[in-house]
Amino acid sequence: MFDKILIANRGEIALRVVRACREMGVKSVAVHSTADADAMHVRMADEAICIGPPSSTQSYLSFPAIISACEITGAQAIHPGYGFLSENAAFVQAVQDHDLTFIGPTAEHIRVMGDKITAKDTMKALGVPCVPGSDGGVPTLKDAQRIGEEVGYPVIIKATAGGGGRGMKVAQTAADMEQAFHSARAEGKAAFGNDEVYIEKYLTTPRHIEIQVFGDGKGNAVHLGERDCSLQRRHQKVFEEAPGPCITPELRARIGKVCADAVAKINYIGAGTIEFLFENDEFYFIEMNTRLQVEHPVTEAIFGVDLVREQLRVASGMPMSFGQDDLDINGHAIEVRINAERLPNFAPCPGRITQYHAPGGLGVRMDSALYDGYSIPPYYDSLIGKLIVHGRDRPEALARLGRALGELIVDGVDTTIPLFHALLAEEAVQTGEYNIHWLEHWLEENLPS
Ligand code: ADP
Repeated sequence: MFDKILIANRGEIALRVVRACREMGVKSVAVHSTADADAMHVRMADEAICIGPPSSTQSYLSFPAIISACEITGAQAIHPGYGFLSENAAFVQAVQDHDLTFIGPTAEHIRVMGDKITAKDTMKALGVPCVPGSDGGVPTLKDAQRIGEEVGYPVIIKATAGGGGRGMKVAQTAADMEQAFHSARAEGKAAFGNDEVYIEKYLTTPRHIEIQVFGDGKGNAVHLGERDCSLQRRHQKVFEEAPGPCITPELRARIGKVCADAVAKINYIGAGTIEFLFENDEFYFIEMNTRLQVEHPVTEAIFGVDLVREQLRVASGMPMSFGQDDLDINGHAIEVRINAERLPNFAPCPGRITQYHAPGGLGVRMDSALYDGYSIPPYYDSLIGKLIVHGRDRPEALARLGRALGELIVDGVDTTIPLFHALLAEEAVQTGEYNIHWLEHWLEENLPS
């Protein structure tokens, strides 16, 4: 095991990694921009080092700043958290070139899965079911129109380099194709420097179901069931749960095995998530995320494992501490993402927290870096906390979520807490009967912006 690792991130996820390190007896180094000098991850880590000005390109995304911080502090490995450099193959290469360990998959796996066309081809070849659509990239509008007719409208045009819900446009009919094709390309180019796009059948009532996988890099891999993340706004998750309300043990065993076998075959190392759309009892692969996900705590809750601890173990060459047969689901867990945003537009709302009180009690976990008097800087994303509840079953988890939300106090800035109070009152949320479009429609009706 490592003696000391550096955490190339901030906020709740940096704190999450510090906590795992502390329990494992591994020293942690926090890095921070000048805007984060007073951040909780800086206070909680064993050491902290300033790596640059507020702009993330000059701090949390700066290879030289982060690698020098390792050299100065003697950290042997880097945990990237999620976002920032977590899926940057060039960074992984740079880390290795400096004889440091990246706590995550190889540069090659990140590269393959980071390009959605290559990812889909790879998964298809590994026996993973995919959404029907174009075979690879679609270079011209003419090709797009032909594929639209073949696949059948509606279709979705997606940037191969896309992520974070960007670079995706829906063409409901042939008449929309020209506009959708050009705007997906333009968005891909502007946001990711790559205008290659591909086309998929647009599923009209799917759920978002993702499978957590974990590999040791030596051909062994397990799955840790699914998370249902169907409640989304602008293709971004806001409410996640495990297990999925509509996934039977048979469906889970079937798709879980397909996923675990696929990652075992490529010698995948560390945590990964294989995302699917799920409609009429069929799974359709959409992408793989080669990192720890924001919503990993719901999986940890129902399996009673620490995924960050496992990441450190396999990165240091140790075996995983569990095999497939050790993994049993216990109860139900739900996570809600608390953002500093002003409803109804979800406009970022940075500022000073005048009062913060975290909920507690049985089955409640609050992952947050907030504290009384903390100032949320305006430079980074607006996630300020994740409230995770665990109960014996879904109704108990929902009741616990309502109770915990009632205890949570975040004063001084606007947050998305009222959204969750309102959602809990909805029958569809109580019964779990919704698809990926449900929240958008609900927002239009209930929170018109
Ligand atoms: P990103 O990498 O930007 O997160 P994904 O490919 O994971 O993009 O898709 C994000 C979301 O977009 C999905 O959860 C789903 O809501 C929607 N989506 C993607 N592909 C399709 C599709 N073929 N049909 C319907 N919705 C889709």
